[in-house]
Amino acid sequence: MTPRFKPSIGWDEFKHLFKRNKGAITQFEKDFAKKFESVDAVAFPYGRSAQWAFLKAVGLEKKEVIMPAYTCSVVAHAVSLSGNKPCFIDIDLNDFNMNLRQAESNISEKTGAIIATHTFGYPQNLDALEAMISRAEKKYGNKIWLIQDCCHAFGARWHGKLIGGSGDVAIYAFNISKIITSIFGGMLTFQNQELADRTRIFRNTHFKRASASKTLRRKLYFLAVYFAFNKRIYGIIKWLNENTAILNKLTKDYHLDDKVHFPPDYLESITDLEASIGSVQLKKYDSIVDQRKNAAQRYDETLKDKEGWHLPPIRDGATYSHYTVRVPNREKTIKKYKDLGIELGELIQYSIPNLDCYGGTKEHESALKASKTTINLPLHHE
Ligand SMILES: *Cc1c(COP(=O)(O)O)cnc(C)c1O
Repeated sequence: MTPRFKPSIGWDEFKHLFKRNKGAITQFEKDFAKKFESVDAVAFPYGRSAQWAFLKAVGLEKKEVIMPAYTCSVVAHAVSLSGNKPCFIDIDLNDFNMNLRQAESNISEKTGAIIATHTFGYPQNLDALEAMISRAEKKYGNKIWLIQDCCHAFGARWHGKLIGGSGDVAIYAFNISKIITSIFGGMLTFQNQELADRTRIFRNTHFKRASASKTLRRKLYFLAVYFAFNKRIYGIIKWLNENTAILNKLTKDYHLDDKVHFPPDYLESITDLEASIGSVQLKKYDSIVDQRKNAAQRYDETLKDKEGWHLPPIRDGATYSHYTVRVPNREKTIKKYKDLGIELGELIQYSIPNLDCYGGTKEHESALKASKTTINLPLHHE
């Protein structure tokens, strides 16, 4: 069975299980800031904790936060749990990104921030985004924070300009399904030292140090992942996951999409182990992304005549966290490929405002359509 995603982890990462990894968090932050051309970077236990912490650190409260309807539900949860309210915007089906014209028409005096997700690695139009924010700031006379969600788009570029390199802050996440992994973990990058300092101070006073038991849990999780993605074992794991409940603790419990809820350790620091693995992965970043770009290009050539399939755009500067296709009958397609030994993903199976916990509204038509019709093809080295 070819898995829908597969982390590029090997002995270089594995050997850190046996080391103390002291000072690794600071080192990972330095390495990350350098790699993605930022003034500073601050590490967190999850991407969602990072986003939550930023909103708290700048004191944003009881504001509306403009964000896409079609993205990871935890982005909306982080907004809600920080004491603010998400304002959902529909997407464009051609690149799955938030429709910026709709975003602009939803800005009001209540708007405190805009979260721009570069979905599936497709860079948003940064020039349009920045222009829209400065128009709105002039009109309403208050600061509107620009938060770029780069979890799918490490190092993507908009007309040569690095995404995450502008605006106030950029968010990255490193769970095992991301482009590079640190087991779990998240990062914020900044272009302004004072803002980075403020966020780091907030983190240092509100997050507790990682316990020894957390490090042990992360070691076991890493081991489980390391072996689960072995070619021979993966099929068995998939079967267990689909037909029994024994793996729920490791897989499904982490993502409770329709509950506004964070994992219990979301305020416990990233571990040194995770940070060391993150630094190793960062060195592999360029080759990982090149390989994904090539795979996307190959799919594009091979699949272009497939009846009824809407292929994603091939864009300069995109990093392809996913190769996402809209198909006429998702279930049938997934079944067909499963029988051929290829697992397809169905990432983001919801439009967030359509979830019960966000009111169940159906008005974001393209987000709903994407949530019901997309599949993801494997882009990893195998
Ligand atoms: C993974 C992801 C996040 C959050 O990451 P966690 O580490 O799981 O909290 C946020 N936004 C997007 C688009 C993501 O893919």
